[in-house]
Amino acid sequence: MFGGPERVLEQAIAALETAEVDVFAVSATIRSTAIGPSRRCYANAAAILSTNLSPPKLLAMLQSVETHFGRNRRGQHWQARTLDLDILMWSGGIWTSNRPALGIPHYAMRERGFVLGPACEIAPDWRDPLSNLSIRQLFHRLNQPKPILPA
Ligand code: ATP
Ligand code: CA
Ligand code: CA
Repeated sequence: MFGGPERVLEQAIAALETAEVDVFAVSATIRSTAIGPSRRCYANAAAILSTNLSPPKLLAMLQSVETHFGRNRRGQHWQARTLDLDILMWSGGIWTSNRPALGIPHYAMRERGFVLGPACEIAPDWRDPLSNLSIRQLFHRLNQPKPILPA
């Protein structure tokens, strides 16, 4: 109905631009294969949004866009779905709440190349408040060969 993953992403990013949210920058789109049980291919991109919405309000807005693009949130975690919009970082540093469940920076951001690659393109100097490393540093670190530790 909405086309392939790249097309869905492009339309979803366009849908983020509203009276309350300004889409300030968008990265190029990359493809990745799914983590978890689904075998689908995903399209990934990062965007910088400018908004006065609080993180929970922004999350609710992102979830309404996911629903618009056909995502059913009652399914299992990491199921095949049409769209997933996560908050990676925000200008206020660290955010944690239970209702809604929301943790910023996103807990898995540092380990995911499909997140750091696009984010590095538009915000290389943004600093992760937990590691105090920039997105560029996190991305380079991820791409370094891992030392082999003696058993
Ligand atoms: P992952 O979190 O590993 O990327 P996912 O995006 O598939 O997995 P979802 O099922 O989309 O996980 O989200 C589960 C819940 O995670 C959401 O309902 C939301 O309340 C919560 N959540 C916590 N932190 C964030 C965040 N930074 N951005 C988006 N959702 C978050
Ligand atoms: Ca996610
Ligand atoms: Ca999500």
